[in-house]
Amino acid sequence: MPECLFCAIAAETVPATRVLDTARVLAFRDIDPQAPTHVLVIPKEHHPDVAALAAADAGLLHEVITQAHQVAVAEGVSEEGYRVVFNTGPQAGQAVPHVHAHVLGGRSLTWPPG
Ligand code: 5GP
Ligand code: ZN
Repeated sequence: MPECLFCAIAAETVPATRVLDTARVLAFRDIDPQAPTHVLVIPKEHHPDVAALAAADAGLLHEVITQAHQVAVAEGVSEEGYRVVFNTGPQAGQAVPHVHAHVLGGRSLTWPPG
């Protein structure tokens, strides 16, 4: 089994609820959702964070963003609005060192709250 959790999910050795699956990109539901829609979008190939992905393969980053929007469409939140977040580094709370876009929607996400 790959040591990286999201590589293992991409390889189907760890289960996940898949929302969308293309040749190079996978979207699956977050195990601890913070909003009615909370889906993670990853490149199947391992890159540690969004800056590393941008530097290594801008086309693949483009696919991740495009598929994040397709997730929002499929979840029915693209019209009302949604958030795409790439936590990067410890102070941002990046817990899994395999780049992932959080797609959040289905509730008010204004920030700061209020
Ligand atoms: P980060 O904090 O690195 O930006 O986000 C990691 C996300 O991965 C968290 O929102 C967490 O809930 C989610 N997560 C952690 N382990 C698993 C898992 O085994 N399966 C799924 N589907 N999500 C996970
Ligand atoms: Zn990985």
